[in-house]
Amino acid sequence: MCYIVPLYMCGIFAYTGRNGKDAAKVLLDGLVSLEYRGYDSAGIFTPESGAVKTPGAVLELKKKVPKGFKGKSGIAHLRWATHGEPTEINAHPHSDCEGEVWVAHNGIIENFKELKKKLSAKGHTFVSESDTEVLAHLIEEHLTILRRGSGVAKKDVFERAVLAALNEVRGTYGVAIQYKGEPEKLIAGRMGSPIVLGLGKKEHFIASDPSPILKHTKKVVFLNDGDVAVLTPKSHTIYKLSSELVNREPEELDWNAEEAQKGGYEHFMLKEVMEAPEVIENTLRGRVIAEKGLAKLGGLESVAKELEKIERIIIVACGTAYYAGLVGEYMLEEFAGIPVEVELGSEFRYRSPVLNQRTAVLAISQSGETADTLAAVREGKKKGALTLGIVNAVGSTIARETDAGVYNHAGPEISVVSTKALLSQLTALALLTMFLGRQRKMSAKIGKDIARELRNLPEKLEKILAWRAEVEKLAKKYAGTRDFMFIGRKYNYPIAFEGALKLKECSYVHAEGCGAGELKHGHLAMIFEDFPTVALVTKDSVYEKVFSNIQQVKARKGPVIAVATEGDEEIAKLADDVFYVPKTLEMLSPILNVVPLQLFAYYFARDKGLNVDRPRNLAKSVTVE
Ligand code: GLU
Repeated sequence: MCYIVPLYMCGIFAYTGRNGKDAAKVLLDGLVSLEYRGYDSAGIFTPESGAVKTPGAVLELKKKVPKGFKGKSGIAHLRWATHGEPTEINAHPHSDCEGEVWVAHNGIIENFKELKKKLSAKGHTFVSESDTEVLAHLIEEHLTILRRGSGVAKKDVFERAVLAALNEVRGTYGVAIQYKGEPEKLIAGRMGSPIVLGLGKKEHFIASDPSPILKHTKKVVFLNDGDVAVLTPKSHTIYKLSSELVNREPEELDWNAEEAQKGGYEHFMLKEVMEAPEVIENTLRGRVIAEKGLAKLGGLESVAKELEKIERIIIVACGTAYYAGLVGEYMLEEFAGIPVEVELGSEFRYRSPVLNQRTAVLAISQSGETADTLAAVREGKKKGALTLGIVNAVGSTIARETDAGVYNHAGPEISVVSTKALLSQLTALALLTMFLGRQRKMSAKIGKDIARELRNLPEKLEKILAWRAEVEKLAKKYAGTRDFMFIGRKYNYPIAFEGALKLKECSYVHAEGCGAGELKHGHLAMIFEDFPTVALVTKDSVYEKVFSNIQQVKARKGPVIAVATEGDEEIAKLADDVFYVPKTLEMLSPILNVVPLQLFAYYFARDKGLNVDRPRNLAKSVTVE
């Protein structure tokens, strides 16, 4: 069985039982099976013993939880910070002013600033920077109103208050909520971030995926968006946000914990490629003002004035992020009119770069800890440049050390092979291009076109992913091949290199990226019947050029696999195999075109029986030189 796996961000586990089990132990053990998701801090709450939170790992939490910490019910959380650094105070569960309502949350409350302002004016005191805390206070506010003689029975006030609060928040959430006034009761809610209920004997569970539940029960209910579930040890009731009762049939899961972590997919890499549409939505969320053709990037507001004066951008990055940077160079020069250079972090630090206050050094790093990129940021700072980051891990060193930046909000990436992070980096670069472009000469019309098309990307990605069996077939067809060439031009020139890198990392075969126009300057010498070329030849301003580069390959008897635009029949006459992608703006085409290449690398390596998620000799975050 497989369900559409929404983007995972960190972990929730909650328990209520009446069978003598120690909730604290159940919860801490459960967190261990959620650890794979990646996280930066952890916390636990039981009504009997209160809350313990810590930055770092589950191990740190276990050390910090005092002897005698116990409970019959409780909630626990692994956080992947989006708002506020990974500190003890920002860790979940978060509470209201009185410490009565406790919330563990995955996702982002988009309107938290407005709500915080409103609630602060009513006397609520906030202690953290997390967006989540607002939900606890909002529930408290509704509880106060309901208890003030609204006629609602005491046993119903908690759920009524939660329903009212969830109706007021905007954004994404998977939540587990507890109220000291009714310690046996747990409430779960889902909007865009997965929540599953576990139904055991005299015990019930809430989790962000089934892995911590499976040890206790195989009977689960997956919540849908807009569902709110009220659990006690012996009952579970599901409502819609409108309070209407709903009936969701439980199912028996025959997964083991590892299968559950991968959401039913064989590898994290495939699961993460499949998350592409949601990744784009999350990177875009709240950042596009479509009707004005503007990008709203909160993380750049503090330096908006300096950015107006920037005359040059140097993008520094390593590996896949470097290729994102190269695409960014094309976007920023064409649409923002700013000269851009892209540098490998490992080179930049050993050169004598000429920088000044009109230069911005923009670091791109998924982990925010890449040693070479970090060194480049420090070099930039030393020389007086404005430093910026496009980073996925909130509170990471690069995020902290740069003057300003844009978070990817791609969620943790578990596979060592980077896939979804690249899509979010490209999306963030498109937003940055709109932001800087509209500060300069970019017209509202172009801004609107980019905004519209960015919004269309998730649907187009869904289409590509639905056709993945085609790529699987291609990987089988070329299974014995030892050498591959990848070619592309302009926006897809860096994507040719990324396609080759993916294949090398996953399957250890020889693959080369090459600017399609460069073939004739050397690479063509290698082409023969057993040396296929993967050509990025979507309909854009260089289509004809790439088409004729493909003819050069065919003239040397080289097989060609084309990634082409839907409806292009000409290419099918020339190439041996074609994978079609939907049409989009040229500057955004890498976001679509790279996905079949990621899938090709995945299936090719999987069919060789390799450990796709853990390629030999590689690490996820390269914190050494
Ligand atoms: N936005 C929340 C925070 O930053 C939740 C993040 C998460 O999904 O872990 O605290």
